[in-house]
Amino acid sequence: MQKREPSDILIPADYKQEFCQTLRVWFEKNKRDLPWRDTNDPYRIWISEIILQQTRVAQGFDYYVRFIGRFPDVLSLADAEEDEVLKYWQGLGYYSRARNLHQAAMTIKNQFAGQFPVAHKEVLSLKGVGDYTAAAICSFAYGAPYAVVDGNVYRFLSRLLGIDEPIDSVSGKNYFASLAQQLLDLESPALHNQAIMEMGALQCVAASPCCTQCPFANRCFAYYHSTVDQLPVKIHKTKTRARYFAYFFLSKGDALYIQKRTGKDVWKNLYELPLVETETPVDEAFLADCEPVMKWLEGRVLPAPLFQIKHVLSHQVIHASFYELELSGDVSVEGAREIHKAELENYPVSRLIHLFLEHCHPELLDLP
Ligand code: SF4
Repeated sequence: MQKREPSDILIPADYKQEFCQTLRVWFEKNKRDLPWRDTNDPYRIWISEIILQQTRVAQGFDYYVRFIGRFPDVLSLADAEEDEVLKYWQGLGYYSRARNLHQAAMTIKNQFAGQFPVAHKEVLSLKGVGDYTAAAICSFAYGAPYAVVDGNVYRFLSRLLGIDEPIDSVSGKNYFASLAQQLLDLESPALHNQAIMEMGALQCVAASPCCTQCPFANRCFAYYHSTVDQLPVKIHKTKTRARYFAYFFLSKGDALYIQKRTGKDVWKNLYELPLVETETPVDEAFLADCEPVMKWLEGRVLPAPLFQIKHVLSHQVIHASFYELELSGDVSVEGAREIHKAELENYPVSRLIHLFLEHCHPELLDLP
């Protein structure tokens, strides 16, 4: 069994035929029953694909059902307020996906007369739609011959064919895209694309795949050479940055203070509690000396945090502490919005704030 080199990118026709046949047979036996598989509506396919980026199917399923229930078509999404769209995304993370969906829906309304575009180039022009999503929409909805390449496909093909081109390099991406396109079953691109992703998601999984049960084991380079755990290859290590957030649940009777995050940072346009961020871990004595906290304390000692959590994002680890203070009528909270506690459910908040509320104020949570 030979390792394939970048120059050796031409897939022989007989190999392709056997590959497609094996994949199809495996898929028919093993595929999951997912709601977005039974539709060729490009809008629903688009929503499901965006939700499933960086989200597990089990978690994404409920969000998809709720989202489609509230925004059943492009126009209902385009006409909604961004706050409401974000509210339906609350807890899924990567909120730029929801903001991009909303903006792309408005583009479809204004530039495509409310009709989801059909041409691959136009689908690709929508905000937040990259090569993978455009290929998924065009193949699933219109049967167009575009091969999908997602993390599952990278993993499966790199192992099967013994490819150590880094999947996070431009040349690696081009190499895998060319391979996947050559292997695509042109007679049924939608089925083929579903099948190859499902192969990576269920069979050729990241950790300890059950190779003895795999229909490709007899021709798999990585299995044959015991390099399954070394493929695929990535060159860039993700750098993470530690941040320290002290959040303040400030209330005056039934009133509560929240603020909107703006600027280029995580959770843009979501709401949160008044925050003091520091470069390093700090204790209550330090916080009590900070300008806004000193004012909120009104001479009191800052109590221990009600809730603490280490919240891991893709490039950041946020060490969050939550404090609770009841304010007197004389104290103002600059830059914050005063709302009735019962109104909090109308504001989209980050997963971190959601976790705090789940633990300490579940009565204030009411997801759509
Ligand atoms: S034999 Fe193992 S490594 Fe190779 S494709 Fe199958 S599951 Fe993946």
